[in-house]
Amino acid sequence: MKRHYPCDLEAKQLIVEIGKRMYAKNMVAANDGNISVKVADDMIWATPTGVSKGFMKEDELVKMKLDGTIVSMGRLKPSSEIKMHLRVYNENPEIGAVTHAHPPVCTGFAIAGIALDKAIYSEALINLGAVPCVHYETPGSQALADAVAPYCRDYNGVLLANHGALSWGRDLMEAYFRLESMEHYAMVTMLTGSLIGKANALSAEQVNELLEIRRGLGYSSGGASLRTAAASGTEKTDASAHECACPDPRCGIMTESGIRRLADDVAEKLKEQN
Ligand SMILES: [Zn+2]
Repeated sequence: MKRHYPCDLEAKQLIVEIGKRMYAKNMVAANDGNISVKVADDMIWATPTGVSKGFMKEDELVKMKLDGTIVSMGRLKPSSEIKMHLRVYNENPEIGAVTHAHPPVCTGFAIAGIALDKAIYSEALINLGAVPCVHYETPGSQALADAVAPYCRDYNGVLLANHGALSWGRDLMEAYFRLESMEHYAMVTMLTGSLIGKANALSAEQVNELLEIRRGLGYSSGGASLRTAAASGTEKTDASAHECACPDPRCGIMTESGIRRLADDVAEKLKEQN
């Protein structure tokens, strides 16, 4: 089936509009952040370097191929961080848009190296799923683009250690809403963790129910790898349950099948006790 992409004009208008929203919502300061949208299988429009996302004009945007070749540009080059976007598109052809910003609460978690993976917030679980934290690499480097690559199929966004947040989606609204959801999820995690000091995690069964809902919405990625009540009760889960894409064997994050197995194990133990 042929994919539907926005036309050049639609893509540019959308990027300018989302840039304004990102800036208005305090997700970026000064010239931070970048946005890109696919307009053909191998072509995107992207934000240039050195311009505030709150004050962008359509004629400043850059059109480029997924191999990095510039097709058309205004007075400014594309952002160095576009390497990250290109890598995401090349890893997963289903992705139609990528957004990157430095939302303060997400960035706080990224600086602390803490993934957003607690199964405590049902809406975030449906819209977003778990958000791993990618290890630090210099912003704008190819090494950072490469570090993001293992996550592009199984997640809907990542935190970038000591840097910010990156999200993607089938279109720009989906990618941007995931960025908003990520900041919301981070905010709620911060409130329950630091200020309120308590968060009741959802059970494996409740998480399964939410995963069912998200499947109904056509999401196949990102619902996995959440720390449920049973899993987060212990410091780390057993290594065999660790199946997430991250290379860190200590991370303890579980995929959907890991959670299902855990749920089965718990049910088995309860049966034995009765
Ligand atoms: Zn950045």
